[in-house]
Amino acid sequence: MATKETKGSHEGQTDILISTQTVIMKALEKLGYPDEVYELLKEPIRLLTVRIPVRMDDGSIQIFTGYRSQHNDAVGPTKGGVRFHPNVTEKEVKALSIWMSLKAGIVDLPYGGGKGGIICDPREMSFRELERLSRGYVRAISQFVGPSKDIPAPDVFTNSQIMAWMMDEYSRIDEFNNPGFITGKPIVLGGSHGRESATAKGVTICIEEAAKKKNIDIKGARVVIQGFGNAGSFLAKFMHDAGAKVIAISDAYGALHDPNGLDIDYLLDRRDSFGTVTKLFNHTISNKELLELDCDILVPAAIENQITKDNANDINARIVVEAANGPTTLEATKLLTEREILLVPDVLASSGGVTVSYFEWVQNRQGYYWSEEEVEEKLRDVMVKAFANIYTTATNRRIDMRLAAYMVGVRKMAEAARFRGWI
Ligand code: NAD
Repeated sequence: MATKETKGSHEGQTDILISTQTVIMKALEKLGYPDEVYELLKEPIRLLTVRIPVRMDDGSIQIFTGYRSQHNDAVGPTKGGVRFHPNVTEKEVKALSIWMSLKAGIVDLPYGGGKGGIICDPREMSFRELERLSRGYVRAISQFVGPSKDIPAPDVFTNSQIMAWMMDEYSRIDEFNNPGFITGKPIVLGGSHGRESATAKGVTICIEEAAKKKNIDIKGARVVIQGFGNAGSFLAKFMHDAGAKVIAISDAYGALHDPNGLDIDYLLDRRDSFGTVTKLFNHTISNKELLELDCDILVPAAIENQITKDNANDINARIVVEAANGPTTLEATKLLTEREILLVPDVLASSGGVTVSYFEWVQNRQGYYWSEEEVEEKLRDVMVKAFANIYTTATNRRIDMRLAAYMVGVRKMAEAARFRGWI
């Protein structure tokens, strides 16, 4: 019997954790908290590593490595997505769980942050192999998670079908139908209206608020989006429908550019479930060229470390709104801020997803479901309030919006830990 292991790349991942810790330290210093608060918050309180044997379609067994990180549960159960990607690492999962804590603090949810990941390439796996991997992961982490402990959700390369398998597996183990175990489920299994497009809707609301600050009319504004997956594709549609000109989009293989605006409905129709569409075209540009296009609004909605000190001075946008987690390094944040480019940070801009995940969990627990309009109205309320809070903090303190967001994000966690008597 063949046993193979998929390995993750560790390149560049240290930076994500270190840069997150750096901003948390700065935020706590600004807020005047003592050192022990940083010592508590700089790393997750719990981290589980699991090995998942999966029977592949050819009869062989492949052993996958998975993680689940719980950053801090002082405020409430931890919450955050599960990522299926070849580059998943322990450090990345840890950093992402910290970001989830910050997001929960920023949009004021009764959660701490969690995150999970499996080192795998779902693009090379069959539907049934993915089902076995998803169920195996849940069996491996079932004692560690739960609707009042730690609630998973979708992330890169995971979707509502994967959430459905995971919910079913957990319900079997629990001998109980337990929809509140996971969010991002299909509607028929207790999913929420608006969940699939929630991250993009939240990003759209942030773009609208940021555009007001920069006196940019969304109608006719030139928008560039890196990534055409869940976040990027819905965002392209919302921007297009709002009258903006989406002049470029990309996927992992390249980018499409048309200064007159792309036909977004056509591209949405042709993209595959992994957010790939550029392979169908001959005339493409690179992701690097896409990031440097002259535009009003640039939205990185793909992966980490895309805007760095090497290309920050070549960015030609008036507003950068981070739909992806960690697309801009700290050095690049400084360079963009010096150039008066308004940067709306990931922990604020992409918090629409966790907000509607929270709405889904609330609906599951009360067994009463809301309309799409109700979800959207509640989401708008939350996002507009969070944006205003962070923008005002940044302006009053003369700091960038990333540091302001971290200050707002850590405060609730630190307060909750203090009331509990942890620090
Ligand atoms: P996805 O898997 O649906 O799509 C990812 C997109 O990025 C695809 O179009 C893919 O082709 C592209 N991509 C992958 N590697 C790339 C590369 N090297 N260069 C350029 N493009 C590349 O993922 P998603 O759910 O849209 O998430 C995108 C980002 O948004 C991630 O950083 C994720 O953490 C963040 N995010 C997503 C959600 C959500 O609810 N989906 C919530 C919060 C944050």
